[in-house]
Amino acid sequence: MDILLGHVRFHELTLRTRVVLNQLPLNLTMLLVMVIAGVVRSDEFSEPGFLVSQAGALLLLASCAAVPWSRLPRWSHLVIPVLDFYVIGLLRFTSQDVLQGLALLAAFPIIWLAGSGYRPRLMVAFGGVASLLMVWVPHFMNGTAGPSTLAAEFLTPFMMLAIGMVTAVMAQSAKAQQRRVQELLDRSEIRGHLLDTILDTVDVGVGVFDTEGQLLLMNSQQRELHAVALPPGVEDAREPDLLIFRDSSQQPVPTADRPRHRAMNGETFSHEVYRLGRGPKSRIVSVSARAYLDANGCRGGSVLAFSDVTEVVAAVRARETFVAAMSHEFRTPLTSLIGYAELLQDDPSLSPAARSDTQVMARNARHLNKMVDDILAAATSGATEDYRMPLDLARLVREQAVASAPEAASRNISLEVDADADLPILGDRTGVVRVIDNLVSNALKYSDDGGKVRLRARQDGTWAVLSVEDEGIGIGAEDLDRVFMRFQRSSAALRSGIPGTGLGLALAQEVAEQHGGELAVTSELGVGSVFTLRLPLWQA
Ligand code: ADP
Repeated sequence: MDILLGHVRFHELTLRTRVVLNQLPLNLTMLLVMVIAGVVRSDEFSEPGFLVSQAGALLLLASCAAVPWSRLPRWSHLVIPVLDFYVIGLLRFTSQDVLQGLALLAAFPIIWLAGSGYRPRLMVAFGGVASLLMVWVPHFMNGTAGPSTLAAEFLTPFMMLAIGMVTAVMAQSAKAQQRRVQELLDRSEIRGHLLDTILDTVDVGVGVFDTEGQLLLMNSQQRELHAVALPPGVEDAREPDLLIFRDSSQQPVPTADRPRHRAMNGETFSHEVYRLGRGPKSRIVSVSARAYLDANGCRGGSVLAFSDVTEVVAAVRARETFVAAMSHEFRTPLTSLIGYAELLQDDPSLSPAARSDTQVMARNARHLNKMVDDILAAATSGATEDYRMPLDLARLVREQAVASAPEAASRNISLEVDADADLPILGDRTGVVRVIDNLVSNALKYSDDGGKVRLRARQDGTWAVLSVEDEGIGIGAEDLDRVFMRFQRSSAALRSGIPGTGLGLALAQEVAEQHGGELAVTSELGVGSVFTLRLPLWQA
């Protein structure tokens, strides 16, 4: 058991001090015995046994202080309590007629032995035997040993044995407790190190605050972000002086709306965007806050996580600028190019050769227009809302066939349509039309002049199915899985020189999946391809 000596714990003392402190109670008690003996019967001092025992006790105390115990084997200091039994035995032998109960002094060495933690069972047994000898030996020496005298002395050694046992049990349980505490301390230290490492590894600034808004912990990323929010030339600023803004506003956020303040008031929020600092060094952060509970289950404070999203926001803005530029700068001249090329085709004064040239011009301008459409759709995919409405897939297919007829005719491709029955679906019109357009345009684009394209819309169980079949260049087995990935084109398409972006099918598959359907292909190189779109039928 730990004994508190001021702020110092017994087990934290040096071995030498502990040995001295173990011996000291016996010496003090023997001193008291000497004083009492002096008062009760001063001729006791002329008893050699009495003097030897007192001198022996002092000698043992001196050895406790003098011997370098820590350099000797672990058990060596236990020699002292063993010798104590002899000293006590001698004192009792010479002075028991003056002072009763001296045998109880044996409690000191037995407590020492049993509580030392070294082979406790052996030490307790040894203490018991030593106590027995201490009370029996005088009888043998005086010639008074007999069954009744020896039995009468049995109580003291028995008590010593019990004291020894209790001490050993308590010492062992204290030791186990100490081990457990140490284990918990070690574990919490490891967790502390682990937490520090995690906090400094993650790419997120983390700040932990108590309910008063006082900072308890901040990782290195958070320190950097905090530095950005400091007003110029200021090393340390109070929370209200930090430069924290919303969006592009130049007015700092009022204190009550600042993340730390909101968290302090117990608010939980996620991914709220703030701007820290001014000028080119400012950072845009997405902030989340969660409260944490203390050991009593009460709110202990809040954890704030700051993710630097400056680059993401810049990329989104760049995409918006790009989309706006593409829509305007590319589309407007292209539309006019296609319009004029088509007008020119109808001019009766054109020679057949010039008409064929303008047809090529118009076709390529349409290709280019389609590519711009694909790039725009890819840039905005996921960013725009999709509005679901009841549609008829068969009708959309028929409309697409009509729209693609001039293109097919100009290249002498026969475009067969088999889409009579109604096929109700619930879908986003723009998306579904884009998928059909992409499949039909591809079928025409990758077919040779004079080829055949077949569109078939039918019902298959609970599905509305569109298959687009062509006899074009086909897709090699090694490319089949890749054609649905963005920017991937088959080797056959690359070899043929037919222009394309490799975006259409990827977007078409995304749309099909968003509608709970699928888009699949079977194809053979040089023979042709069949693309199959399956969308769930809609029962009104
Ligand atoms: P793009 O046609 O603009 O290259 P898509 O995403 O529409 O992009 O198609 C991806 C690729 O799939 C094409 O580059 C082509 O290699 C192949 N492909 C698509 N449709 C067909 C088809 N009907 N016949 C042969 N290959 C095709």
